[in-house]
Amino acid sequence: MSDQDNQIDAYRRRFLGQGAALAGTVILAPGLFLHTIARARPAEEAASSEVRWGFLIDANKCAADCDKCVTACSVENGLTGFGRPETDAQWIRKVTVRDKATQHSVSLPLMCQHCANPPCVDVCPTGASMKRADGIVLVDKHTCIGCRYCMMACPYKARSFIHEDLTNQKAHAPRGKGTVESCTLCVHRVDRGDIPACAEACPEKAILFGNLNDPTSEIAQRLASEPSTQIRGDFGLDLGVRYQGI
Ligand code: SF4
Ligand code: SF4
Repeated sequence: MSDQDNQIDAYRRRFLGQGAALAGTVILAPGLFLHTIARARPAEEAASSEVRWGFLIDANKCAADCDKCVTACSVENGLTGFGRPETDAQWIRKVTVRDKATQHSVSLPLMCQHCANPPCVDVCPTGASMKRADGIVLVDKHTCIGCRYCMMACPYKARSFIHEDLTNQKAHAPRGKGTVESCTLCVHRVDRGDIPACAEACPEKAILFGNLNDPTSEIAQRLASEPSTQIRGDFGLDLGVRYQGI
C-alpha cells in the first residue's frame, strides 16, 4: 500500500470513528482505498478553517517530458476544445527551473499556490476573488468583471483571462467568457472526498495532496520531517503549495 493510500486509510479510520459518513470512496479490495482523502463535505456544511488543503510536490520525481498532470487538469475542468490548443487555458503548467551557475535544471508543475495571504483577493474590487475557510482560493465568475487586477497582482502568473466563446463546459467547473480563472484545487472533487485530478494522474506520485493542518496527515508529517520550500517564500504569502527538490 502506498503512503497516500495509508493516509487515506488513516482518514477513513478517523472519520469512521467519529461516525461520519464516507462518500465517493473507491474500494478495490478490503482495506484498500484509492483516490479518496476524507469524507465528502455535505453541501449544507460550510468549509472549515480546521482544514487547510495543500500540495507537496516533489520535483525530483517529476520527469521533464511528462505533462500528465496538465492533461488531467484540462480534461477534468474542460479547458480544451477550441481547436487551437495554443490558446487553451492551463490552470497547471510545467516550468523548468535552471541553476545558472551549474546548469542543473528541474521540471515541476506550477499552479495557483492557494496563498493564505492572497494578493489576488486583496486587489479584487468586487469580491469575486475569494479564499475559502479551508484555504482554497477561487473566483466567482458571476461577480468577476474581468478587470484583471488579480492577474497583475499574482506573482505566480497563475490566472488567465477567458477570451473565447465557451462550449461543452463541465457542470462542476463553470467558466465564463470575459472573466478570470485559475486552479480551483479541484474543489468539486475535494468536497466529495477525492483528491485533485493532477495528483491522481501523476504516475510518479510527485503531487501529494492533503490537509496541512492535520498533524497526522502524510503531507503534514512529510513537511515536518523533510526539507521543503515555498516558491518565493520571501513574499510572505504563506503558500498552500510546497516543493521539494528545488
Ligand atoms: Fe491568488 Fe496567485 Fe496566490 Fe493563486 S497564486 S492565491 S491566484 S495570488
Ligand atoms: Fe476580481 Fe475578476 Fe477583477 Fe480578478 S478580474 S480582480 S476576480 S473582478
